[in-house]
Amino acid sequence: MPDPIAIATTRDGLRAICATLRDGGHSLALVPTMGALHAGHLALVAEARRRADRVIVSVFVNPTQFAPHEDFDRYPRRLDADATMLAEAGADLVYAPDAASIYPPGDSTQVHVSGVSEPFEGSFRPHFFGGVASVVARLLIHAAPDVAVFGEKDFQQLAVIRRMTLDLGLPVAIVGAPTVREEDGLALSSRNAYLDPAQRAVAAILPATMLAMRDALRRGADAGEAEATARAALIAAGFGPVDYCSAARADTLEPVLTGAVAPGDFGNTRLLFAAWLGSTRLIDNCGLDG
Ligand code: AMP
Repeated sequence: MPDPIAIATTRDGLRAICATLRDGGHSLALVPTMGALHAGHLALVAEARRRADRVIVSVFVNPTQFAPHEDFDRYPRRLDADATMLAEAGADLVYAPDAASIYPPGDSTQVHVSGVSEPFEGSFRPHFFGGVASVVARLLIHAAPDVAVFGEKDFQQLAVIRRMTLDLGLPVAIVGAPTVREEDGLALSSRNAYLDPAQRAVAAILPATMLAMRDALRRGADAGEAEATARAALIAAGFGPVDYCSAARADTLEPVLTGAVAPGDFGNTRLLFAAWLGSTRLIDNCGLDG
C-alpha cells in the first residue's frame, strides 16, 4: 500500500506544497479532473509522469460549466476513493479546492474563447466552454505547472484550452492523451455510471457507429450522407436526441457538411459525436486517419 497522498484544499495550501514539490529543480505536471476517476484519468496521470518529475491532479466539480438543468448535483463525488487511486498511480498531490479558492466571493472574471468553442458542444451547451476555460485558467495559474495533460476524449475542450493557453501566453505545455475505452469500444466516462445495464449494452453502438462513419468517409462517402446514416443508426439503436455526429476540421472545428474528404485531409479531420441515451449524454470522437 502506498502512503496516503497529500490533499491541498486551498489555493494557498496548493502553492506552498508546489514550492516543496519543485525543490531541487523538479518539473510539475497538472492533470485537471472532476473526480470519480477511472482508467482514462489514470492514463493521463501516467502520461503526466512521463512528462514531468511531480504530478498534481486537481479534483473539482466545476459549477460554472453546468447549466442549471444539468447534472451538477448528481455528478459522482468520491474524493477518498480518488485519492487512493491517485496514490497508487504515483501522483504526488491532489488539489481538491474549496469553491472560494477557485471563485472568491464576488468573483467577476470569466474567460471566453471564441471561434473554436462555438460549434458542436458550444451550440448545445452554450455555458460550457466559458466555465471550462474559466476554471482551467485558474487551475493553471494556481499550480503553475510546466505541463498540463488533457484527454482527447473531450477533443473540442482540448482545442479550446490550447487556444486559451496560446492567447493568454500561459507558460505551460498542453499535452493531449488518447481516449481510453472499454473492451466493447465505449469511451470511459464518469457519466457512464448513470447508465442502467440495458443502456450500457446499447451505449457501445455509439463508438461502433462512429467507426462505421469513419470507414465510409475513408472510402469516399459524402460527409452529409455519412452523417445522416450515422444519425439514423443511432436513433434506430435507441439514442435520442442525437445532438451531432459530424465530421469537422480537427484544427478549427469547422464542420464538414458535404462532399468527400480528400485523403490528404484525413489527418486534419475529426468525427465528433454527442447523443443522449435516456437521461445520459454521451460524447465521443475519433480521427479519420486512425
Ligand atoms: P473529467 O473528469 O471528465 O472532466 O475529465 C478530466 C480529464 O480526463 C479530461 O482531460 C478528459 O478529457 C479526460 N478523460 C475523460 N475520460 C477519458 C478517457 N476515456 N480517456 C482519456 N481521457 C479521458
